[in-house]
Amino acid sequence: MQSGNQVVIRISKLIVIFSLSAILSACALLGSEKQKVPEPYETQDFFMGTIIHQKIFGENADEAAEAVRKRLVDIESKMTINKPGGEINQLNEMAGTGAVSVSSDTAYVLSKACTYAEMSGGAFDPTIGPLVKAWDIMGNPRIPPQGEIDSLLKLVDYKSIELDVKNLKVKLGVKGQMVDLGAIAKGYSGDEAIRIYKKYGIRSAYISLGGNVMALGAKPDGSAWRIGIQNPRAVNGSYVGIVEVKDKAIVTSGDYERYFEEDSVRYHHILDSRTGYPARSGLISTTIIADFSIDADALSTSTFVLGLEKGMELVERLDGVEAVFITEDKKIYLTEGLKGNFSLADESKEYAYGQKG
Ligand code: ADP
Ligand code: MG
Repeated sequence: MQSGNQVVIRISKLIVIFSLSAILSACALLGSEKQKVPEPYETQDFFMGTIIHQKIFGENADEAAEAVRKRLVDIESKMTINKPGGEINQLNEMAGTGAVSVSSDTAYVLSKACTYAEMSGGAFDPTIGPLVKAWDIMGNPRIPPQGEIDSLLKLVDYKSIELDVKNLKVKLGVKGQMVDLGAIAKGYSGDEAIRIYKKYGIRSAYISLGGNVMALGAKPDGSAWRIGIQNPRAVNGSYVGIVEVKDKAIVTSGDYERYFEEDSVRYHHILDSRTGYPARSGLISTTIIADFSIDADALSTSTFVLGLEKGMELVERLDGVEAVFITEDKKIYLTEGLKGNFSLADESKEYAYGQKG
């Protein structure tokens, strides 16, 4: 009966905004002073279950984009559980049986995942895999019976990841356990893209992997990148506010990108590791701004599960990390350090700043 559920997938959680005035002034410059305005190299691909958009300014942009594409395919093949093969599939198959050898990429992402699992008190848990499979939001979505959820919840425990980073060996303690790096692997990919751009001498670029944006440097005219945060309840891709950043990762998690509805209840893809159900923390969108997108990705998912109060507390504790949280009653909350770099730009006029405390 539930196999007929319609799954909604949206992948533009963040929108990089190029204002008309910037384009016009660039044209004016071209006309009057015959100065060379850099042409970006742009490319779009579909992998990692999402649209990958690269926009790169400068020489070698096409080679850099190609190198990034290859690197992302490489990372995906190691870490995916949605296709056969790869290191995480092997780890999962060997759960409760033995250790497997992994690349330094996988070891690094696993160690970061465990750090955030610890930091979030298990709200973020990379061993959420069995529940992700049971809900199968992206495939054949269903509401698993309570008995099934209860038994799968017993398998969710990041503490049973035995990771030997030095020798690149990893083991899952209990048979049936399953690691899912879906909440952090795109973040790592964004960081790798930036490393590659820099290697090719690029100083201005961005890459968007679904809701993960990595901005390198500033725009060619020296101004900050303007990133629009999608209105979580609009279907037309309009945004509620704009964050201005240079050299930053900005990552959004939300309940509106991958979900199905049954009896008017929304079942989305970020699960609460305590209940086994889609997280209902009162937040509908969390955006994290940080230096590295692996951190921003893990934290956007963590705070989404933790909710406003605990999520804000966690982020305010961390240096160099800022956040925009949107609650189900359409209130927007910012970390102290972001004020001045965020502007409300809500066409729907439904969102307003919330009061803390
Ligand atoms: P997206 O990848 O869609 O941008 P997230 O980064 O928030 O969004 O990651 C969501 C994905 O992470 C889910 O599709 C699932 O694979 C995995 N996941 C779901 N719940 C959790 C959780 N509590 N902790 C860690 N990973 C999770
Ligand atoms: Mg995430």
